[in-house]
Amino acid sequence: MPATNFASACSAATSSGVSARPALLEGWVHSTETFGTADGPGIRYVLFLSGCPLRCQYCHNPDTWHRQDGTLTPVEDVLADIGSYRGFIRANGGVTLSGGEPLVQARFCKAVLQGCKAMGLHTALDTSGYLGNLADDELLANVDLVLLDIKAASGRRYHQLTGVELKPTIKFAEDLAAINKAVWLRYVLVPGLTDNLDEIESLATFAAGLGNVERVDVLPFHKLGEHKWRDRGLDYRLERVEPPSQELLETVRQTFRAAGLLAH
Ligand code: SF4
Repeated sequence: MPATNFASACSAATSSGVSARPALLEGWVHSTETFGTADGPGIRYVLFLSGCPLRCQYCHNPDTWHRQDGTLTPVEDVLADIGSYRGFIRANGGVTLSGGEPLVQARFCKAVLQGCKAMGLHTALDTSGYLGNLADDELLANVDLVLLDIKAASGRRYHQLTGVELKPTIKFAEDLAAINKAVWLRYVLVPGLTDNLDEIESLATFAAGLGNVERVDVLPFHKLGEHKWRDRGLDYRLERVEPPSQELLETVRQTFRAAGLLAH
């Protein structure tokens, strides 16, 4: 991240004997991707924030689970970096806040989103929805699109997969529908775990009934992050699971389409 005028202003104030330092809003930033094409429309600047209360069995970013996995970064630095890419992303793209679970740092998210909107950028929030109660009106007012990961359709399955309850995510989905916030639903298809067609059908019916789900992305399970589990001495339970076949992927997409949704 580039140095900011803010940082030099602080050091100037200190050297001139002014000890009071203005309150600084900082967030734990894991990493950034400057030309993302998979996390929202167009070319995205993706800000990966550290910290996540879920423990998804298929997680390919276990290196984002703890806040301290990232670097404590002033919001001004984040916005300065985003601003340096503004020319590329303003016309066709935007900024996506991802993680981890970005809403772990809701206050920081809010400030970043406000800054992005002030720069005229499209904004997306990539979330599991588990902490949706932390996304207040002010935060959502600066979000153009929510990428909502609903990781399983039944409460039992959701808990088995993530270690937490499904209910908060469903509530968040309903809250977003109530304010007609655009949502792209994401569903990771894991053979033997999230491929029950009855459960998917009930999720599709629920999603279609919301009225604000613009599209559904059915994402094939992959094992690209498996080495990160091993590196951390974590027990990776999906070692023997293979990615879904094209046929199964298509069947699941058709299940969403049959409910009237656009599915990719
Ligand atoms: S919500 Fe995302 S970051 Fe958190 S455990 Fe699940 S896949 Fe990993």
